[in-house]
Amino acid sequence: MKRLKSHNSNSTLTVSTIYSLQRTLSMDIEKEYDLSLLHNDTLGFVLKEMGERLEHAQEEGFCLCQDCVLDAIALAMNMLKPYYHASLLGNMYANAALENTYAREVKIAVQEALQKVKNNPSHD
Ligand SMILES: [Zn+2]
Repeated sequence: MKRLKSHNSNSTLTVSTIYSLQRTLSMDIEKEYDLSLLHNDTLGFVLKEMGERLEHAQEEGFCLCQDCVLDAIALAMNMLKPYYHASLLGNMYANAALENTYAREVKIAVQEALQKVKNNPSHD
């Protein structure tokens, strides 16, 4: 706190000062709060959809090796808006309309990700 004040009155915050402040703040948050209560439903949705798609993916020419499947999961995750909530109670299942919309977006993201990895796999 004392440090923050003196830097503010200085009017010039260097980038390294900002980084060290951020590091200090995030360390405190991890110590003070139980972050295991934060949940992101996106991974669960993607894995469920990916599991259903992979049953038929091989017939469609997709490679099912560790690299390709994990690449596709990562790609799909990056295409989607994250869906965080701060307790087990506040999840998306409470909102059917939202869940339907999101399920459609997940389906599209997984399809696109599989296609991209198929067209450009990280191996020969
Ligand atoms: Zn592969």
